[in-house]
Amino acid sequence: CGIVGYAGARPALGIVLDGLRRLEYRGYDSAGVAIVCDDELLTEKKAGKLANLEKVLSERAANNPDDCAASPVGIGDGTTGIGHTRWATHGGPTDRNAHPHLAPDGRVAVIHNGIIENFAKLRAELEDDGVQFTSDTDTECAAHLLSHALTELRAAGGTDSPQLLAAAMRVVCRRLEGAFTLLAVDAAVPGAVVGARRNSPLVVGRGDGENYLASDVAAFIEHTREAVELGQDQLVLITADSIEITDFDGQPATGKDFHIDWDS
Ligand code: GLU
Repeated sequence: CGIVGYAGARPALGIVLDGLRRLEYRGYDSAGVAIVCDDELLTEKKAGKLANLEKVLSERAANNPDDCAASPVGIGDGTTGIGHTRWATHGGPTDRNAHPHLAPDGRVAVIHNGIIENFAKLRAELEDDGVQFTSDTDTECAAHLLSHALTELRAAGGTDSPQLLAAAMRVVCRRLEGAFTLLAVDAAVPGAVVGARRNSPLVVGRGDGENYLASDVAAFIEHTREAVELGQDQLVLITADSIEITDFDGQPATGKDFHIDWDS
C-alpha cells in the first residue's frame, strides 16, 4: 500500500523507514525492506505494524553488529534501499507474504502495490519451468520474471549495470496485466533502484546527490520538494545523481515535474 525507494550517499534504512511511517495513514498489514550494501541484498519483512519490523531490525543489529557475513557493512549502512507497507489482496497478511519478494538466488528484490491480474497464468508458467514459490502473493511472479529476464540479458552479452536492471524490468512490465507500482533492487547493481507504474501511482523526489521514489510525495517531503510524477506505463531508473525515464519499450519519456508547496 505504501512504497519508498532511495539511492544516495546516506544510509538508506532510516530514510526508508521514515518514509513508510509517513505513509502509515493509508493503512497496511505488513512491512518490509530490502537494502543493498556492497554487493549484498539484505532484507527483513514482518506482518503487523512497522514497530514489528523495527523490532526485528534492532534485534538483528544487536545480535550481529557486522550483519552480513561477507560484507564489512550491515543493513544499517547500505545506501540503496526500498521499503513497503502491504495491504494484502492475494495471500493472507503473514510474514512470508509480506514484501519484498526475492528470486531464489536472493539477488533481486521486488515490492509491489496493486494487483497483477494475470498472475495465476504467469505463476503456472514459472512453476512449469521448475520455479518454486515461497508465498501466496500475486507479486512474487514479478520477482521470478525479473530474475529470469536478467539471466537472459546477461546470456545475450549484457553486463551488470543500472541500465541492465531497467531493461529487465521493462521485460517484466510488458508481461504484466493489471495495476502495479513496482520497485526493484539488484545486489549486482548497488546504487540503483528501478521503478515502474501502470494504473497505480509513482513519484520521484529529486534530491541533491540522492533521489527518491514513492507511491506518495508524503514519503519524501522532509528531504525534497522537487518531484516528478510518472505517466502511465513509464519506468524510472534512479541512482544518486541520475533519473532516467522511459516507456516500457525503452523509448525516452518524460514525467510531469512539479514543486510540492504544501506544509509537511
Ligand atoms: N497484491 C499485492 C499483495 O497482495 C500487493 C498489495 C498492496 O498493494 O499492498 O501482496
